[in-house]
Amino acid sequence: MIPALEVTGVSKSFAGKELPAVHGANLTLDKGKVLGLLGESGCGKTTLLRIIAGFEVPEKGEVRVDGTTVVSEEVMVPPGDRNIGMIFQDFALFPHLTVMDNILFGVREKDKTRRREIARQMISLTNLEGLESRKPGALSGGQQQRLALARCMAISPRLLLLDEPFSNLDVTLRSQLRQQVHDLLRTTRTAAVLVTHDIQDAVALCDELAVMKDGQILQKAPFETIYNEPVNEYVAKLTGPVVELGSTVAGKKIMIRPEKLSVRGSESKMRARVLDRRFEGNSYAYLLKSGNFEFIFREQEVLQPGSEVNLFYDDKHLLRF
Ligand code: ATP
Repeated sequence: MIPALEVTGVSKSFAGKELPAVHGANLTLDKGKVLGLLGESGCGKTTLLRIIAGFEVPEKGEVRVDGTTVVSEEVMVPPGDRNIGMIFQDFALFPHLTVMDNILFGVREKDKTRRREIARQMISLTNLEGLESRKPGALSGGQQQRLALARCMAISPRLLLLDEPFSNLDVTLRSQLRQQVHDLLRTTRTAAVLVTHDIQDAVALCDELAVMKDGQILQKAPFETIYNEPVNEYVAKLTGPVVELGSTVAGKKIMIRPEKLSVRGSESKMRARVLDRRFEGNSYAYLLKSGNFEFIFREQEVLQPGSEVNLFYDDKHLLRF
């Protein structure tokens, strides 16, 4: 099967910057799948997305969308001809056009009746019924986001690119929209790349994650693999909490995810002091200290602040870097 997106050896530097913004990036995304680009601010996520969209030209490398080369040493297909939908943080809606006209703007179909049909279908998919004649200024943040989505989907894109699409929304709306975008992408079997620095967005929406640092892709895999088998300490810490065990083996640091620790077992591997306790309903969140390292540990059993506890773990869960 031809992948929805192939990025091969893509690099891009900006004048006056010591490090390249993107450095030798390789990615493959299958049809109907969603890939999350995760990383700290400045790691090159947006630049890579803009290269895929055609708003930046790489010095090296190649991008293929649905088997068609859109950029290489010989080829440069303009953004408008790539059949890629892109949703930015600010949604980039046309303020003077109504909801219906914003959506119709993207529809390529020429037949008038058919155009309206497509727009209606998008309005229904994104739950914007009844708001067709409003202008973006009279919509809530969530409605604007859905309109941006509807407008993008109306072109039946071969690929959808989303750059921090939820960052301007409050927490409740954010989780609702995540779900709606998830459903819409699955229903329409649209391949998408989502740029985010929020691990919750990434986990809720993506089949696979690519972790970036200093312009390079450090690891690309499903979240479960990245979380359980991170390639290095940076990826481990970016994708969830870790407890440093204070010991080194063969020059390697030893770490473990806190939920792999248990207060029950046969041979204690670690002692920790209970510094604080917070009741969270289904368990307690304890602040524990082992050596100089403090961490949060969730457990249903009651432990007394000030006491020392024995902790157990299976060596197979150790992370060595
Ligand atoms: P954020 O999460 O903050 O958006 P990011 O991971 O998307 O960050 P990029 O915006 O891709 O990162 O930026 C990567 C690097 O390239 C940064 O050092 C940035 O300052 C630099 N950069 C990006 N665009 C330009 C530009 N047009 N001119 C010069 N430098 C740029």
